[in-house]
Amino acid sequence: MEEAKPLLKKLKIYSLLDLALLLPSSYNDTTLSTRITPGKIHTFEAKVTEVRSYNGKLIVTFSLPRFDQSLQSMFFRVTPYHYQTFAMGSKHIIQGKVELYRGNLQMNQPKSIRQAGEIIPKYKTVLKQEEIRKLMQIYLSEKALIDEGLLPNEATIMMLLHFPNSLERIYQEGSYRQEILKVLKFVEAFNHIRKLSEKKIDYPPIKALNGDISSFVKRLPFELTDEQKQVIEAIRCDLGSSDKAAKRMIVGDVGSGKTMVILASVMMALPEKSILMAPTSLLALQLYEEALKHLPSTVKVALVMQGKEEGVYREADFVIGTHALLYKEDLPKAPLVMVDEQHRFGTNQRQLLESMASGAGDQGEERRAHFLQFSATPIPRTQAMMNSALLDVSLITRTPFEKKITTRVIGKSEFPALLTHIKEQIAQKHQVLIIYPLVEESETIDYQSLAESRGFWESRFDNVYVTHGKDKEKEEVLMAFREQGDILLATTVVEVGISLPRLTLIVIVGAERLGLATLHQLRGRVGRLGLESWCYLFTKNEKSERLKAFTKTDNGFDIAKLDLKFRDGGDILDGTIQSGQKFKWLDMGEDEEIVVAATERL
Ligand code: ADP
Ligand code: MG
Repeated sequence: MEEAKPLLKKLKIYSLLDLALLLPSSYNDTTLSTRITPGKIHTFEAKVTEVRSYNGKLIVTFSLPRFDQSLQSMFFRVTPYHYQTFAMGSKHIIQGKVELYRGNLQMNQPKSIRQAGEIIPKYKTVLKQEEIRKLMQIYLSEKALIDEGLLPNEATIMMLLHFPNSLERIYQEGSYRQEILKVLKFVEAFNHIRKLSEKKIDYPPIKALNGDISSFVKRLPFELTDEQKQVIEAIRCDLGSSDKAAKRMIVGDVGSGKTMVILASVMMALPEKSILMAPTSLLALQLYEEALKHLPSTVKVALVMQGKEEGVYREADFVIGTHALLYKEDLPKAPLVMVDEQHRFGTNQRQLLESMASGAGDQGEERRAHFLQFSATPIPRTQAMMNSALLDVSLITRTPFEKKITTRVIGKSEFPALLTHIKEQIAQKHQVLIIYPLVEESETIDYQSLAESRGFWESRFDNVYVTHGKDKEKEEVLMAFREQGDILLATTVVEVGISLPRLTLIVIVGAERLGLATLHQLRGRVGRLGLESWCYLFTKNEKSERLKAFTKTDNGFDIAKLDLKFRDGGDILDGTIQSGQKFKWLDMGEDEEIVVAATERL
């Protein structure tokens, strides 16, 4: 057993179910053939009746007692071993492909095998066949699998796949095959969820928070949606806990009203402090304005960004800021730390963010702030369920008011009509956003860049603004555009959740180059306040099924499902969303029932 450890490590096997899921890629069936079908692999008992060499080849004739027939075999690269093995009169179990040649049975280069009547699994791994088979024999048993949490029928199927007594059962089409597939999906989901749950460590909170939110809710100019209320309720339970610091991700489409959930959480934290970090100054500023507008005036709010501060952050109840917060050494310790638009932060920054939530307690015991992350990257429900083994996930799937956005795929021929539509919108004091794939001209991309098309727009329209990801003045440009712009030309930077309430038309150039999640984020920029809006996907690939599917739905969670169908989905690990988690059997778009069952088995 000890010597197996390095082998398991080599295979990146960390659980018994990892090992069980490493299935044979094929089987070698040495069951003796009872019928002869030319073109197929056969196993025969055979006796050598003639041996001769011909042109450097070895030709052996066998008799097949069971069939009362003879069979000829040719060996091409002949060594003394062959002469020794296939000596006149010797008996063998031979295996190989049978052909009919001029009415005679032939099996070229047969293998002489040790024993008949076995089904030997073949594994495609870096290990030798004997090594991996040995591992399976040592570790896999029905009992071991049941101890890992599988049901007896599931364990039986996993064992059958590794140690089959008949291949027919495995390969036959029909209900048993469906059953096998279902078990594999389940084991995959269950194994993944359990690993996640093992990674989860709970810390005690700095403090249980039980503030009252009713004075805030009463002042709101609208009723909270049912989903907003549900999320707030879940957070109320989280924050009220005195033995477990909250670790929750709130995922909601652009415009689903996450800010209200943030503000309600601030109310719950009172009289203790809360900190909120946003990915950009513009967003921080916007959150600051909303906090001032909606929180009772007794709540002291401060803003911290590079080169700009409002309020006194050392004394505030609620500090909002950008990553400039990370460099404030005298930032008060807050028992509630939140991150907005979490998906916009890089991996390194995310780690820093988490560190804001940690801090030593009085007796050196580690305590953590309640940590809430808000993300607008919709993930499929199945994935949210899986990830909830690692951190709690809440979904907000609807926006407070119906958005009226028409999405259309267009090509070059529709450009004049598009120009007319843009002019109409500007005439109504609405704003237009045009997204280009690149800043500069490029050889590899078949679309105009920002730099190339700028002149076109500037010569035909007034108040054209331009910005892009590396633009140092990007935030100033966006701010100026918000007030007095008609058209904004940009790259995907505007993905950042700024609110441009007058924006009603977006054109995405080269839309087929972007993932659906990104397209969805971009589309979410228009119609924020319910104005009728349009999203044009400009493409040279007007037949794209993916884009067509995208025009038919505006629900981020459906889009996440579509994205899975056309690409691999992302995954939350260590509290961050990572892409690349792949399942061999499980289909995150389709197998919701199986994921539910796996979650419940935990
Ligand atoms: P998100 O951050 O999820 O993208 P916001 O919090 O910015 O969305 O909300 C989008 C808009 O919806 C804001 O103008 C906000 O004031 C408004 N809003 C939020 N909740 C409600 C509600 N329950 N009813 C009506 N409007 C709401
Ligand atoms: Mg927001």
